[in-house]
Amino acid sequence: MSHICSDCGTNGKPEKLIQGQFLMELLVWGSGILVILFSKMLFGFWVIAMLPGVFYTIWRVTTKYDGCKVCNSKNIVPLDSPKGKELSNRNKPQIEDTKTINSEPMDVKSELKKYKEMLDEDLITQEQYDTKSKELLGL
Ligand SMILES: [Zn+2]
Repeated sequence: MSHICSDCGTNGKPEKLIQGQFLMELLVWGSGILVILFSKMLFGFWVIAMLPGVFYTIWRVTTKYDGCKVCNSKNIVPLDSPKGKELSNRNKPQIEDTKTINSEPMDVKSELKKYKEMLDEDLITQEQYDTKSKELLGL
């Protein structure tokens, strides 16, 4: 089933993601090792210093979640849920925007026609028309 991300609007299959950061995991394990080295702990107590690292790793491995493959957000909803439908509708105007960009040459033509008519009716000067047409044509 397809999902949509409520943070970035990506839709697609959710990905299994791991909580937390690898760097943080290294840091927790590293500090455990440092504690052992600097406090000259007895071997039997090492496990205490390593506990935070062990717990952090267990937490990461056991709490994998379904998330957005683009922004790693947990806020993904099924596409056929009310919220999912609302989100995919919200994305539609963007598609229409690209259509307007594609049909731009047509707009330039009709705009030019409009200014040509205005010029013919002496509403604007030749100079004004030239400036405007250059602007519209991007010259
Ligand atoms: Zn996302």
